[in-house]
Amino acid sequence: MTVLVNPTALSDHKVRDFQMLIGGKWEAGTAAPIERIAPSHGVLVSRVPGGTKADAERAILAARNAFDHGPWPRMTASERAAVLLKAADLIAARAEEIAFLDAIEAGKPISQVRGEIAGSVDIWRYAASLARNLHGESYNTLGDGTLGVVLREAIGVVSIITPWNFPFLIVAQKLPFALAAGCTTVVKPSELTSGSTVILGEILMEAGVPEGVVNIVTGTGPEVGAVMTTHPEVDMVSFTGSTGVGKLTMANAAQTLKKVSLELGGKNPQIVFPDCDLEAFIDAAVFGAYFNAGECCNAGSRLILHASIADEVVKRVAELSKKVRVGDPLDPTVQVGAIITPQHLDKISGYVAGAREKGADVAHGGEVLDLGMGQYMAPTILSGVKPDMAVAREEVFGPVLSVLTFETLDEAISIANSVDYGLSAGVWSRDFDTCLTIGRKVRAGTIWMNTFMDGASELPFGGFKQSGLGRELGRHAVEDYTETKTLNMHIGARTGWWAAR
Ligand code: NDP
Repeated sequence: MTVLVNPTALSDHKVRDFQMLIGGKWEAGTAAPIERIAPSHGVLVSRVPGGTKADAERAILAARNAFDHGPWPRMTASERAAVLLKAADLIAARAEEIAFLDAIEAGKPISQVRGEIAGSVDIWRYAASLARNLHGESYNTLGDGTLGVVLREAIGVVSIITPWNFPFLIVAQKLPFALAAGCTTVVKPSELTSGSTVILGEILMEAGVPEGVVNIVTGTGPEVGAVMTTHPEVDMVSFTGSTGVGKLTMANAAQTLKKVSLELGGKNPQIVFPDCDLEAFIDAAVFGAYFNAGECCNAGSRLILHASIADEVVKRVAELSKKVRVGDPLDPTVQVGAIITPQHLDKISGYVAGAREKGADVAHGGEVLDLGMGQYMAPTILSGVKPDMAVAREEVFGPVLSVLTFETLDEAISIANSVDYGLSAGVWSRDFDTCLTIGRKVRAGTIWMNTFMDGASELPFGGFKQSGLGRELGRHAVEDYTETKTLNMHIGARTGWWAAR
């Protein structure tokens, strides 16, 4: 069994009506609004304008105008940093409002979202610090007649497209760095979770971001997002979402050779050796699998266990799974909230059914939960999973843990690397050589050693293989939003081509 926390009716919640931000003006839009039904409570909680292609085009032209003629790219880095720092303070001041919206639109536990907002504030401050450290290079080593200077210039207009699973945190991994570089932007949040991004727009206007520098167009991917990835006036696309739409984004952007940064899916393994601190690992297994209801690119959705400890580990992970509190995301004790949409819940339970048909066993959970309202899935452990099963290879994006086993270190590495993804991985062992060998040979952008899903603004994040392209966060994050330009300067008399013959 799992501990269930039934949601209570949202009787005093007023439906929030949001607008779009284009060229510094708030607009209600002309098309029918998009309504959001809370996945946890099944009631209408917010409406955003259904942005159109024409809205996206106007936003792109506003960003272009702000980049070509406005003050933002021309300010000193110190001035831009001051605006970013003020934005961080304003986010902190409105943290509860933002946390409530993300919890109710995405179905995420409120206590978890509070942590995400605090993390976002830290990222905005970190980006402000990087703004003032952005610099190029000079070469005074090219002989008496030459001085080389390599400038870093803001790349221009950036389209930022984000998913529903971490609505406020993911935009924080992109937007402050683009702004720090001096870029102007068009942002499209997921149609399911737009509220907190619109509030961010209010905050940025209040912080002093000039008009046209940040435009927020709500709406669907095929309508708004498609324009943002194809329009010739866009210089770069920064996308987080599914691998399928990531590929489409890259193909669209290729038509005008835009720079593309992609943060996509994952099928992340935790590789466990018998000499590890099992107590610590059991906790990390449950956390890795069920955090954000498994709707997490970094989810530790594959346990690759040494065969000698597999039975004991599965038993202990199942024991701890029984204590996980599932239900009302507004209850601060809840650890696993609702599933984003009924369709997505069907997809998750379809994966569980498919794995059972192929011979996997359900060691815990496996069922859809009825909590009287909304849609919920039980934390689920599937044992006896084989590396070729869909549940071991594809992103389930739900609270479903697949357990596989290995005999040798090489076999563990081979299973870990056998999928198309390469976002992150964990290794659990007290042996230094084991951890470092896994760290070097597993093809993933982040390797956690004796921990899982830790992070910091200073540490780059991104994927190998079909988990993405480029890295976010870390000290190079602002450089990603720049172009380099070489100034090759001649000093003194130049020996001409004709004269030198
Ligand atoms: P999607 O790829 O469906 O959507 C992501 C964004 O792209 C949304 O804003 C969506 O709009 C938009 N979009 C959809 N179609 C198009 C299009 N044709 N052109 C341009 N934009 C489009 O992903 P989800 O929202 O379902 O998010 C889940 C996925 O995100 C998972 O696969 C997960 O692994 C990945 N992810 C990766 C992370 C990472 O950093 N590696 C972090 C978090 C999530 P709309 O939905 O509003 O129509």
